[in-house]
This record gives sequence, structure tokens and C-alpha cells, in this order.
Amino acid sequence: MKVIQHWVDNKHWAGSSSRSTDVYNPALGAKTASLALASASDIDHAVQRAAHAFPAWADTPPAKRAAIMFKFRELIMKHIDELAQLLSSEHGKTIPDAKGEVARGLEVVEFVCGIPHLLKGEFSDQVANAVDCHSLRQPLGVVAGITPFNFPAMVPMWMYPVAIACGNTFVLKPSERDPSVPMRLAELFAEAGLPAGVFNVVNGDKEAVDALLDHPEVQAISFVGSTAIGHYIYSRGTASGKRVQALCGAKNHLVVMPDADMDQVTDALIGSAYGSAGERCMAISVAVPVGDDTADRLIERLTPRIQALKVAPCTDPKSDMGPIVSRQSLDRILGYISEGEKMGARLVVDGRSVKVAGHEQGYFLGGCLFDRVTPDMSIYKEEIFGPVLVTLRAGSYEEALQLMNSHEYGNGGAIFTRDGDTARDFTRRVKIGMVGVNVPIPVPVAYHSFGGWKRSLFGDHHIHGMEGVRFNTRLKTVTSRWPSGIKDGAVFNFKSGHDV
Ligand code: NAD
Repeated sequence: MKVIQHWVDNKHWAGSSSRSTDVYNPALGAKTASLALASASDIDHAVQRAAHAFPAWADTPPAKRAAIMFKFRELIMKHIDELAQLLSSEHGKTIPDAKGEVARGLEVVEFVCGIPHLLKGEFSDQVANAVDCHSLRQPLGVVAGITPFNFPAMVPMWMYPVAIACGNTFVLKPSERDPSVPMRLAELFAEAGLPAGVFNVVNGDKEAVDALLDHPEVQAISFVGSTAIGHYIYSRGTASGKRVQALCGAKNHLVVMPDADMDQVTDALIGSAYGSAGERCMAISVAVPVGDDTADRLIERLTPRIQALKVAPCTDPKSDMGPIVSRQSLDRILGYISEGEKMGARLVVDGRSVKVAGHEQGYFLGGCLFDRVTPDMSIYKEEIFGPVLVTLRAGSYEEALQLMNSHEYGNGGAIFTRDGDTARDFTRRVKIGMVGVNVPIPVPVAYHSFGGWKRSLFGDHHIHGMEGVRFNTRLKTVTSRWPSGIKDGAVFNFKSGHDV
């Protein structure tokens, strides 16, 4: 069986720990690899190598760093089919979806190809007599990333290209469930000419994460994952003096106004609720039709479309939806479906009977649709993270907005309407970080920034775009006087530019 180790100093590295875990192909329910789990001393080794590489990398001119990013971009494009296959074999998503994920990660690499421009500081001439002032952004040192299973290529690429282009060195701890793609990307980055120690990948679980959170050389942590773990990462990381951004769970609503184009809404909900089997932090998991007539029309249209979804492994080119990532996740989702029925919600489409011939041990589940869900039900309050869409009927637009604003999560969401006034009011008053108007999954492009509000993000910075550059750098402001011969004598009081 394949053995997956760590990537340190541009080489595969076994580490010293004897602990390991299994990696599965979720479509077959079969083990495909054994994954090394780093110990605290393995983390220390990787961080020390990153710290060793930092001074030279921080001094490398940004244009030279950008040249490596251009090469990395070319290599990712050349290997995109191979990367997508590898990704799907451990995650389960369809091949076109896997390619789309790699392409969205690639956009961040393209964004940081412009790093010389992004790091430009500001300069003020003659702020006082013979005094000038300029500001610059400098890298932090060693930055760490801890990432979830659902986007094993894209989410790490939200982090490390920006951190590295800014002059930091990086240690990535990817998800234990699908580690092969991050490891392959590390090989390609080395092939692009990245010096040893600048980008390292350590595989592991809680022990590795805790060692990163406590390590004195680690200056900043970017985390993406569930809210419970994100809150823990934020608390422990900031307690040890680190800068932390923790992007977490979600319950994204889509408000359907009575004037919306119902064909467009139906297509939007099918793609955004069931794409990638609902395992996306920007998946729409709550439909909020305004008015009973809108709700009835919506349910009538969605029902046959969900029943017709082709649930199949990624090797089937006609697959709409692959398996759930693991047995444990499938069991958690099944638990929510039973709970919803018990609480009195109406299960309009039940995907539990779906079977995939030849893949009886795979973790498959068909699309599910609940109607008549109420705000007190766990299927509404909690993140299910599977192909389960819940419908809450709202009596008015105000009620729909208040429902969304009262939810503990505030990642993304959308409104579908033809009315400009309603759309504008929604974008201004809704308490979420990423808003769609007639766009169901409003994931910002790489040169804008991604992040939620409320318990969907702990920290002050969103990820990638200029927020990413700010997170990964420290601002320094320099005030200098030339020529040096000017002498004012000792000055005891504060002065402004007006005084001199
Ligand atoms: P997870 O929280 O279980 O794992 C995320 C990372 O934390 C992994 O690397 C894992 O090894 C580590 N981890 C897990 N348990 C830990 C513990 N007890 N102590 C320390 N580290 C631990 O998340 P997941 O199941 O891999 O991913 C799904 C979650 O990620 C969902 O909640 C989803 O909404 C969220 N997500 C959020 C965003 C966003 O941008 N807001 C994007 C993608 C995914």
C-alpha cells in the first residue's frame, strides 16, 4: 500500500513518529494509503527548517519570488488532469468539480504573480522640513496553515502562495483524509524553483496541530475548518501571541422572492446544495421562499430534479454527485436526517435508498430535501455538511432577513429577485461576509478576499486578496531626515508639519 510521509526541505521525509492513519477511497470504502502522523518533535524539525530558510527568502526580491510563482502556475496547468484524478480518488468529488477547485486555487497563484505591486508601500515627501516618511510591509517569519478535507487543493492555496510571495516561509498541515494533492503540489512548487525549506507539508492530527499552535517560531496561523476546532485554534494560537485567522462553519441561506425567475432559482439550488455532495462551506443548505405560493412552486420544481441526480463515483463522467468523504461523515448526516423526521419536518425527497452498483461499500447518499422546517430544529441550527437542503417558509422579506440575521453563522448567502430595491436593501442589511444577488455561491475571486461574519470567522482578516497580503505582513513606517546637517537643538514638545 502507498505510504504518504511529510515534505520538508523539498524532500519527502519519514519523520520520527511511529503513528499513522489510513487514507480511503470513499467511492469504494477501501483503504488506499497509510499516512504518517507527525509528532511534536517532527513539527519542531519542519518549523526549524522553515525558520532557517526565512532570512534568505525574505531578502529575495519580490520580482524573483514572482518568477517562481509564474513557473508554479505553468506546472499546475500542465498537471491539472493528474491533480484532479488524485483529488477525486481521496475526496470523491466529480472530475470537473475537482478541476474547477484546482483552477480556483490557481487564481490565487496568478494574483500573487503581481506581488511586487501588491507590496508597494507609501511615500510622503517633506512631511516637515527635510523630513520624509515612507511605509513598507515586511514578512512575519514562519506561517502555518491548517486545512479541511473539502478543498484539499484550493483551501491550502488560499494561504501559502500569498504567505510565501510576501516573503514568509510556510508549514502546511493538510487534512488527514485527502493529503495526496497538497503533497503533489509541494513537489511541483519545488520543481518551479522554490528554495528548500520555504514550503513544507507535515501530515498529522491534533498532536501536530497543537505543536504548531504552541511553537514559538510560528508567527501566524491560517485555519479553515469546523467552528468548534476553529474556535479552539483561535483561542490557543492567540494565547501564545500569534496572529490567527480561523475560517469556520456555515449555514448559507438563499432567499427566494416571489418575483424571482423560478427556473434560474431551481438550477441555482440544485448546483449549490448538491454539488460536491453539499460538502462546501459555501453550499446553500437553507432555502427561504417568501410566501406559501413561492414555496409550493419551488418544492414542485426541485423534487424531480433532486430525484434525477446521478449519484456515482468520479470515474463515471455522467456523475453529478460523488460519495460522502468518510463513513463517519455519512453516519453523522444520516443522524441529522432521522432527527429531522423525528422533529416533524417533511422529508420530500429521501436519498437514503440510493445504491451504486459495484460500489456497495462506498459512502453514497442521494440528495435529500426537507420542507416545513422550523428555526428550533437541529437540521436548521447546525451545519449538516451533506446533500441535504432544508426549506423554511417565510411570510415576508423582513421575516426572511431576520431569520438569516439571527443564525449563529454568517459565511455566505444569496437573494434571488428581479427587484433592485429589495436586492440593494438585502446587500446592505444582511449580516454575512459574502453576499450573492442572483448568484448562489458568491465565492469572491482571488483578488478580492474570502471570509464570513459571526461564528464563521474568528480573527480580523479575511483570506487571500489584499486582506491576505495584510495578514501575512507587518507594516513598518519610517521617518527620515536628509540632509543630516540640519540641527534644531533638543526638542521637548510634540511638533506637527505645520510648526517647522
Ligand atoms: P475539521 O475542523 O474537522 O478539520 C480541519 C482541520 O483541523 C484538519 O486539518 C484537522 O486535522 C484539524 N483538526 C481536527 N480536529 C482537531 C482537533 N481536535 N484539534 C486540532 N486540530 C484538529 O474540518 P473538516 O471536517 O476537515 O472540514 C469541514 C469543515 O470545514 C466544515 O465545517 C466547513 O464549513 C469548514 N470549511 C469552512 C470554510 C470557510 O472558508 N469558512 C471552507 C472550507 C471548509
